[in-house]
Amino acid sequence: MRYAHPPAMNQDLPAFLASSPAPAPGTAFKTIFSRATHVIPVCARNEPYLVGKAMDHLPSYADASILVGLDGRIVFVGPHDALVSQSWFNASLVHATIDCRGKSLLPGFVDGHTHPVFAGDRVNEFALKLAGATYMDIHKAGGGIGFTVTHTRNASDEQLLADLATRVKMLRVLTRHNKSSHPVKLSVTYLGGHSVPKTKTLTEYTREILDEQIPAIVRAQEAGDVHVDNIDVFYEKGVFEREETVAVLKRGRELGWAINFHGDELHPMQSGTVGAQVGARAISHLEEVSDEDMTVMAQVPIFATLLPTTAYVLRIAPPPARKLIDAGVPVALGSDFNPNAHCMSMPHVMNLACVMMRLTMNEALVAATINSAASLNQEKERGSLEPGKWADVVVVGHEDWRHVVYEMVDPPIAGVYVKGEKVVV
Ligand SMILES: [Zn+2]
Repeated sequence: MRYAHPPAMNQDLPAFLASSPAPAPGTAFKTIFSRATHVIPVCARNEPYLVGKAMDHLPSYADASILVGLDGRIVFVGPHDALVSQSWFNASLVHATIDCRGKSLLPGFVDGHTHPVFAGDRVNEFALKLAGATYMDIHKAGGGIGFTVTHTRNASDEQLLADLATRVKMLRVLTRHNKSSHPVKLSVTYLGGHSVPKTKTLTEYTREILDEQIPAIVRAQEAGDVHVDNIDVFYEKGVFEREETVAVLKRGRELGWAINFHGDELHPMQSGTVGAQVGARAISHLEEVSDEDMTVMAQVPIFATLLPTTAYVLRIAPPPARKLIDAGVPVALGSDFNPNAHCMSMPHVMNLACVMMRLTMNEALVAATINSAASLNQEKERGSLEPGKWADVVVVGHEDWRHVVYEMVDPPIAGVYVKGEKVVV
């Protein structure tokens, strides 16, 4: 499918986008999001992601509508007047109308980094951290990720909906979710190299990953039980060192998985350089990223997936988001939802990104939509409101979309739609 685009985009001049070729006269449509005070499409020229100053200059349509085809994809985005003047448009052939007057519309948020499958919460550790313990104090005391992995390993099948080895089990849970009718889908990441069991050395555990875990996942993938999109390693001093990280990530890449790894969280580890060496798509955390590695990440490019909840919960310095954006690195945001940072709210993550990491609200929106989608190789399907993409839409219950960032904890979200169908509120 090809799309027509205006020759130039200026945020002050409303332009509109319609699918090309135009729908045939008499075509029926699923839904119209009708007459929003503002529609913020984030992208208007099919940009795969945004960097630098472009992150802070967003197109906006006033008194605008989004028309959704029966297949759940966007047909038209732009001023309502421009839609009704289209010869192919017949309002009586639209199955459902969502009155968006007084509201604003955003692309559905994409969480660039979560750990959704686990058993055993860590509320006790939260108490220890409030009393002053660090992440590594807890890790060495047998808590942290080691605690969760042990609990997840011991959880009953019923609790985790699956069996076999823990890693395959977790991937099966995620894959099963994606096969279910649940409208929110997950990009599935194999995170074998996250914590080394106490009973093994790093070398032994790396061999286990390469010789046992990955082959078991490949078998499960061939059997159709598991589908993996990405591979990840917790690349950190005293956890997974450079040689082992490179070996595991390279093996994943050979299998067609995108590389999306944890790097430079607690110590500077030259993650950008390592990422370029292995062909990474994204690196998460980067609290300790060096200037040299930022340059490398901008050149490749490699996405920086920033997780403000981590710095907030661990009371560590947040990543240098401003420097990353100014250096031209494509910055994305993730919730890092996990037993350490129990947050699933992208609006809250955007608020933290603005307050703690000094992003503008425009930059936070870009990082939580098109850039996080692109960090997961999803930019052709979601991340912006453009013809041909899925109609994943957040209806903000305010004519100024920025209230979704500004109003902490309880942002004014009037509806969340996936493929043009309501899923939340
Ligand atoms: Zn993580």
